Amino acid sequence: MIKHHPKTELLNAHVNGQLPASLSAAIAMHNDLCPQCAQAVKHMTEQQAELLFEHNDAPELANDIDLNEIDIEQMISDITNDDSVELLAENVPVTISVKGQDYKIPRAIQHMHMGKWHSLGKITRARMELNEGDIHSSLLQIEPGGTVPEHTHKGFELTLLLQGSFSDEMGTYVPGDFIMLDGEHQHTPATTEGCLCFTVADGAQHFTQGINKLLNPIGSFIY
Ligand SMILES: [Zn+2]
Repeated sequence: MIKHHPKTELLNAHVNGQLPASLSAAIAMHNDLCPQCAQAVKHMTEQQAELLFEHNDAPELANDIDLNEIDIEQMISDITNDDSVELLAENVPVTISVKGQDYKIPRAIQHMHMGKWHSLGKITRARMELNEGDIHSSLLQIEPGGTVPEHTHKGFELTLLLQGSFSDEMGTYVPGDFIMLDGEHQHTPATTEGCLCFTVADGAQHFTQGINKLLNPIGSFIY
């Protein structure tokens, strides 16, 4: 059962369109697996629509648009000239195979652009190319028996478990768990059966233990 959910403030910001695409996608993927949060978002969206309607002083304007004034031809030409459509071929496929393991990719990230897969030991990751500055998001696969060295976070680190399971000092996670950590937490995720996660992190990770300090570059590799 999913035990970790996005906070209400985060759901609210999602409804209001205030989140970066990476975090919004993570919430959408969580909600696909969590009827409880999906219901909350539905409720918030309805409330927001009511608010907008109440504050709309001139709703009758919508009926006054003269269809003859809209240049349909120009509109279609604008749409077909949009270069972004041509990039569709590079999007994340619906299913992917990483190190011999097949994964189904949730629809919220199927439209995103994904870089190449890179491996370091049992950890393999591909960056989502979202151009969100210091915010990096990735698909992260850990093979059975893999561990991420103990680390803390300068900013935040969100891990959304998509498939498989992993554990850390705080417990064991199932697909859909939305694990948001900040600089005050440190953890050592480990997986026995292997897993695929969507991660969003703000700023570099800081690895805390002995030899792991020497391996600090792994932080920028993983997140
Ligand atoms: Zn939830």
